Amino acid sequence: MENIFAFADELGPAKIVHIYDPLTGLKAVVAIDNVACGPSIGGIRMAPDVSATEAFRLARAMTMKNAAAGLPHGGGKSVIFGDPKIPIQEKERLVRAFARGIRDLVEYIPGPDMGTDERCMAWIKNEIGRAVGLPPEIGGIPLDEIGATGFGLKASVEAARKFCRLELKGARVVVQGFGSVGKHAARFLAAEGTKLIAASDSHGTIFNAKGIDVGRLIAMKDSGKKVVDYPDGEKLSLDAVIDIECEIWIPAARPDVIHKDNVARLKTKLVPQGANIPFTLEAERILHEKGTLVIPDFIANAGGVICASVEYHGGTQTLAFQTIEEKIRTNTTQVLEESERTKTLPREAAVALAERRVRTAMQYQRK
Ligand code: NAD
Repeated sequence: MENIFAFADELGPAKIVHIYDPLTGLKAVVAIDNVACGPSIGGIRMAPDVSATEAFRLARAMTMKNAAAGLPHGGGKSVIFGDPKIPIQEKERLVRAFARGIRDLVEYIPGPDMGTDERCMAWIKNEIGRAVGLPPEIGGIPLDEIGATGFGLKASVEAARKFCRLELKGARVVVQGFGSVGKHAARFLAAEGTKLIAASDSHGTIFNAKGIDVGRLIAMKDSGKKVVDYPDGEKLSLDAVIDIECEIWIPAARPDVIHKDNVARLKTKLVPQGANIPFTLEAERILHEKGTLVIPDFIANAGGVICASVEYHGGTQTLAFQTIEEKIRTNTTQVLEESERTKTLPREAAVALAERRVRTAMQYQRK
């Protein structure tokens, strides 16, 4: 038999549970990594090719992300083997069986991830009384609709301003990936006086040096159009978004979009990372050396998890906004101060901060 403790290190994982239900055919794995900060929160990924390794790695990422966000939650994650597009009744049977399987794993609070959505969370809540990312009718806060992550990006920019001598009024903003995260970030920043000069989606880039009307572009995207359908601007290629000089460049699309071969093209002061791992570590190092400030993904884009935590504790939308603002400002400031003091990359400072919080919380546990 393979070594089932292969993942074990100083932080966890506390439990890896395999669930099999012969009646429904459910096969799932739950990884509960470290719960020193509190019960773990992490999504359920449904896909045919998931694995226990993937569940563990994602659970560890959640331990760090939740600690970095300053939440009273540890990290967990689960995977359900299967095609997420199966007929809905079949999916409901599987998800409900999964919920019953985790009933007694009370230190794990499930949320949505790839292949699961708010409806799945509603079934789980109905079975066992705990889940986050719920529909609004049963206490959920619709984080994509209200722009929780975009709002958090704005808060991180405000906190980072003094570290890169940036004036928000008139600052030029470029957004790669004008979706849930990107469009709300552009909207909240525009309310502070910034100017959106370019935005891209999977079809191309729109550019106007005089400024793009953010509200109008969002309305167009929401009606199913592409950014290049915006009438008052120059239509450019997908890749051209990298070359546009600006003060704030927001990656909000895919992983690894900036790497050693294209990083020299980026001409900006500040990068709040909306997408997860949008830059390679090498690219982040090169930018750091040339003085471009990069706020790492799990600090800048934590608005979604903070919102989920507020929802879990019964808070309102208003409280979610206040908590996101306060936590992301504080964490961004701490990380950038530590990065300056220790002369390390902001990402290294952020990892150190998260680890310190987890280790401190572990000291309060019974030995
Ligand atoms: P989304 O699907 O709503 O938007 C993504 C946008 O990127 C779309 O407009 C799409 O057309 C565009 N896009 C795709 N490929 C592109 C490319 N090559 N170049 C330019 N644009 C491209 O997704 P989202 O929820 O906004 O998430 C975006 C990223 O942020 C993902 O990496 C996600 O993991 C991360 N993230 C999201 C949240 C959240 O709350 N939604 C929280 C944390 C991190």
